[in-house]
Amino acid sequence: MKPYLLLTPGPLTTSDTVKQAMMGDWCTWDKDYNVGIVEVIREELVTLASTRPEEYTAVLMQGSGTFCVEATLGTVIRPTDSLLVVANGAYGKRMGVIADYYHLNYFLMEFEETQMVDPDKIDRYLSEHPNVSHVSVVHCETTTGVLNPLKEIASVVKKHHKILIVDAMSSFGGIPIDLFDLGIDFMISSANKCIQGVPGFGFIIARRSLLEKCKGIARSLSLDLYDQWATMESGHGKWRFTSPTHVVRAFMQALEELKAEGGISARYKRYCENHRVLVDGMRALGFRTLLPDNEQSPIITSFYYPSESFDFNDFYQRLKAEEFVIYPGKISQADTFRIGNIGDVFPDDFHRLVNAIGKIGLK
Ligand SMILES: *Cc1c(COP(=O)(O)O)cnc(C)c1O
Repeated sequence: MKPYLLLTPGPLTTSDTVKQAMMGDWCTWDKDYNVGIVEVIREELVTLASTRPEEYTAVLMQGSGTFCVEATLGTVIRPTDSLLVVANGAYGKRMGVIADYYHLNYFLMEFEETQMVDPDKIDRYLSEHPNVSHVSVVHCETTTGVLNPLKEIASVVKKHHKILIVDAMSSFGGIPIDLFDLGIDFMISSANKCIQGVPGFGFIIARRSLLEKCKGIARSLSLDLYDQWATMESGHGKWRFTSPTHVVRAFMQALEELKAEGGISARYKRYCENHRVLVDGMRALGFRTLLPDNEQSPIITSFYYPSESFDFNDFYQRLKAEEFVIYPGKISQADTFRIGNIGDVFPDDFHRLVNAIGKIGLK
């Protein structure tokens, strides 16, 4: 069943039981699916995301995570609104690209990819630009693994009474976040990250009172988040168009396994331990991390090439022969590769990985 361990954050390594949950065919029009699976998931998601689930509502959307980011920006932001896009990596910048496609009024505030987003800069910008209506930011920038200070960012955005949109794609389910506490209005994530499902859909957890006002704004039919939500609400779990039934069933299994593990806080602890074993082991072998420890998430870790003559492709192939698959780097300023800490993977797997890397050597 497992040709190798995927140490890439999405798709990632899933449990056998999550894969087995797909061994059935569900009818999208039947209550067994809509009420028995989709509605259960939507309810679980708002409960996981907030201590005040009644303030929020969940929408599932076909496609990968980017489809959901695009659906959100395209449904929530009117042509007369003004958006501040905060970016310190490829996923933040991608929100700027989406804003371009939709001809949104926006400003891209960029930080170095190796730096956390600075909440003070957002504070200053919002003070000088009171016309801004929305702010969008990435929680864990998977480009490098940097974890942005979401609490401080949210507090600044709320001080200025702006609507806050958070791409928590690679962190939700793996790092505790309370949307209500932080004042987050829209949070986007997907099936194949920390919930440990398989790829095929994403989801948006939205402040109900705000989403209710978004009728008729979308400039895309298939990515109309409001319409998707309205259909799901009134149809008790019905999707507008063909839904990825097997993937959704696998996701429900993944949610059950998250609960069995002890919830998000227990999963966070495991990911932190995975990360610690990885970094301790790699440092002992002579590798250096791209980021200082205080900026680093437990989600994915970037390492510098150990030498100028390091051949990543050769390293990748030899590691794959040992049944570990990793990621190339994604930044231009430095030669790096990345190793994911999330998925159905455990500290023992990282001990084995470090041993395998030690065996391959640092050529
Ligand atoms: C994975 C990810 C996305 C979505 O990427 P897709 O390839 O569309 O699934 C968006 N933002 C972040 C931070 C991610 O990690």
